[in-house]
This record gives sequence, structure tokens and C-alpha cells, in this order.
Amino acid sequence: MTDVLIVGSGPTGLTLGCDLALRGIPLRILDRRSGPHRESRGKGLDPAGLEVFARLGVVERMSAAGRRGVVLRKYFDRVHIKDTPTADGLLIGQWRVEEVLRERLAGLGVHVEYGARIVGISQGPTGVTARLSDGREVSARFAAGCDGGHSAVRGLLGIPFEGHTEEAPTMVLGDVAAPGLGRGHWHQWFSSDGGGIMLCPIPGTDSFQLQAAPEQDGRGEPVAPSLESFQRLFDRHAGLPGIRLAHPTWLSSWRSTVRMAARMREGRVFLAGDAAHVHPIAGGLGMNTGVRDAEALARALATALGGPGTEGSLDAYEAQRLPVAAALLTDTAQRMERVMAAVREPGRGTEAGLD
Ligand SMILES: Cc1cc2nc3c(=O)[nH]c(=O)nc-3n(C[C@H](O)[C@H](O)[C@H](O)COP(=O)(O)OP(=O)(O)OC[C@H]3O[C@@H](n4cnc5c(N)ncnc54)[C@H](O)[C@@H]3O)c2cc1C
Repeated sequence: MTDVLIVGSGPTGLTLGCDLALRGIPLRILDRRSGPHRESRGKGLDPAGLEVFARLGVVERMSAAGRRGVVLRKYFDRVHIKDTPTADGLLIGQWRVEEVLRERLAGLGVHVEYGARIVGISQGPTGVTARLSDGREVSARFAAGCDGGHSAVRGLLGIPFEGHTEEAPTMVLGDVAAPGLGRGHWHQWFSSDGGGIMLCPIPGTDSFQLQAAPEQDGRGEPVAPSLESFQRLFDRHAGLPGIRLAHPTWLSSWRSTVRMAARMREGRVFLAGDAAHVHPIAGGLGMNTGVRDAEALARALATALGGPGTEGSLDAYEAQRLPVAAALLTDTAQRMERVMAAVREPGRGTEAGLD
């Protein structure tokens, strides 16, 4: 039996894994994916997230793989209005953050076990047993559900995920190439009709992360993401006929969700990251908050594994992080409102979510 079973190898699970491994605590980390992904998703590390990574000894590698001081290039009704530099933080694709953490873990002798989907959990006074979809069982003294917004662990524990999810997608997104478009700026085109499109160059790749308000079909329904739809949106808002989007490697849509778990602990099992809280992306706080959850959970588990009479430290995790999650939901909902208002003003946009 290992000490800690981590379910999910996103930024939260990998940070927890690195932190525990550095403390010499035996762990296993399982993921239902067949292997690593290459989706840009959360593309910004803030100073608080970078501080955690400095302690884990990976901040130099993150910095080398990312880019600081990204400049937002603002257009309104296709006209370039101004450039706005951003202050702190590191622009880096989420897949790259995960890759650096996986490399760190491998150096500590731990490898993600892919193709391992958790479908059942039972626990007793001294341990937890997780059941996988292929019938295997994995036992540990403690378990952490770092398995994202649709967390199976949270569902298996019966922990309510309170809040709301918008029915219609607010945004389509993806990773695409845009040959001929300058890679020195995060391009943000907004239009007086309320629509817009943004293309952010992802460091170390030829691709841009594209985010846009979805097209509507004849019945007013949002059109599913596709390269063709992205091109039509680009032509409409950017109006640069020479630029043809190409090589989509990720297509997705995003629904605004504001939800948090009613509890972050059930006995010997804990929730962290998106499994415990999902909120608007304005301000880029999701991955960074998960990384901070992971740091707090590693500290609590390390204390509890230290010897008899120390399990009280486990209560400290929820007491510390649940109020952070609640404040985050309110904060990011307000940031999102500010961004939605700002994009209607020429020369303003996502930076309204950073204030
Ligand atoms: C467009 C966009 C932009 C964003 N920008 C930012 C940003 O700038 N900054 C920021 O901080 N955040 C940002 N985010 C949010 C960020 O992507 C998430 O908050 C982050 O991915 C959460 O990490 P996580 O490790 O908690 O969960 P995830 O990344 O969702 O990882 C969960 C893992 O669990 C695995 N899993 C799921 N179910 C099971 C199961 N049953 N058994 C085993 N494994 C399982 C999954 O395969 C996955 O690998 C952005 C998101 C989007 C979509």
C-alpha cells in the first residue's frame, strides 16, 4: 500500500505529486488519459503559482519555456487602437507546465500511470481503496481527487458541487496556426456588435490559442468549434484576408461555470484544484489556485503521515482552502463582468480582469 494516491495528472495532481515526492513520501499518480495532452488551456502562471514552482525547483525550466511581459494588442472594429503591456506572470501553455512537472517527478522516480480511470472508492479507518474501470484496485493511506471539474472522485464521495453552469457555450477555443500573424503580441479584436476574437501566441510552438464568442446559426444556436467557423470569425472581426488559420490541434467550447464543492475532505480522501472549484477564466486564476491547493494539501498530508496524533493537521487543509475557493468564485465572477463591459470600449479588454 502506498501513502498517497493522486487521481488526475493535471497541474494540481502533478504539483501535489512533486511536493510529496520531494518530502520522500511514497505516492502513485493515476490518470484516465492514454498519455499527455498538448492543449494550451490555462496559459498564465501568476506570481503566487510561480512561487510554489520555485520551491519545487522547476521555476527556471518554466521561465525558459514561457514568456514574460506579454503585450496585449487591441483592435476595435478592425482598427489597431493601442498596445497594453502586462506586468507580472508568465505566459506558458498548460501542456508545457504539466510536462515540466512530469519531468521533475520522473527525476524523483515517480511516473504517471496512464489509462487508469477511477470508478469506485471505499475507505476505512486506516486507508482508501480505489477501483479502476479495468477492475484493478489501488490502495493507499490517503487519496486526493485532482481529477478536474467533472471530478469522478467528488461524485463517488457524494460531495455536492454547488453553483451554476450556463447552458450555452460562452466561448469557442482552440490551438491553431496563423501563418503571417505576428507572434510578438496577444492580438485582441473586439467589434461594436459585441463579438470578438483573440489569438495568443503560445511560446515554444507555432500555434496561437484562439478564443472567440461563438458564431450563431440560423436558429440563434451557437455553432460548434471548427477550423471553418474560426476562419469566418477571424475574417469578420480581424479582417485580414491574407491570414488563413490552419493546423487545429485542439478545438473546444467553454461554458461559464461558477461552482464549488461543499467539502474538500471526506475521511481520508481530499479534493483539490478544479475538482473543488470551477469559476470564470477572467484573471487566469484556475490553474494557479489548484497549484496552491496542492501545496497546502501536501503540507497537511506530510504532517499527518509524520506519526500518531498528527492527523488533526488534515482539518487545517479544508479550513484554509475552502474560504479561498469561496472568495475566488465571487472574485472571478466580478472580474468576468468587468471584462465583458471593457470589451465594448475601444482599446480595453482582458486586462480589466487582472485589476
Ligand atoms: C481557455 C482557458 C484559459 C485558462 N486560462 C488560465 C490561466 O491563464 N491561468 C490559470 O491559472 N488557469 C487558467 N485556466 C484554467 C485551468 O485550465 C484549470 O483550472 C486547470 O486545468 C485545473 O487543473 P486541475 O489539475 O485541477 O484539473 P485538470 O487540468 O482538469 O486535470 C484533471 C486530470 O484528471 C484526469 N481525470 C479525470 N477523471 C479521472 C478519473 N476518473 N480517473 C483518473 N483520472 C481522471 C484527467 O484526465 C486530467 O488529466 C484556463 C482554462 C481555459 C479553458
